[in-house]
Amino acid sequence: MSERFSPLGTLGAMHIESIAAPDLSWQEQALCAQTGADFFFPEPGSSVREAKRICGLCEMRSACLQYALANDERFGVWGGLSEKERLSLRRTHQQ
Ligand code: SF4
Repeated sequence: MSERFSPLGTLGAMHIESIAAPDLSWQEQALCAQTGADFFFPEPGSSVREAKRICGLCEMRSACLQYALANDERFGVWGGLSEKERLSLRRTHQQ
């Protein structure tokens, strides 16, 4: 469908489709999918300790963190890092 509307032609459309539909297969093995999202998106000021503990046991941690950084996820715990920790990591790598 995006090819039909793409001024870039087929290759451009394929690129756009890959951006629009990132590989989320890692989420099938995400431990947080078994525990629920509450730990990972706590109320402001609440502890993220339990979320980080679960992330520490998750085999998808690296893929999860890469996804969060690539997609500029601003809220919650992803890949074992809080919002502030991801922002700090991003700033460190931009220097
Ligand atoms: S690293 Fe944490 S947030 Fe990411 S998939 Fe695993 S449990 Fe979920």
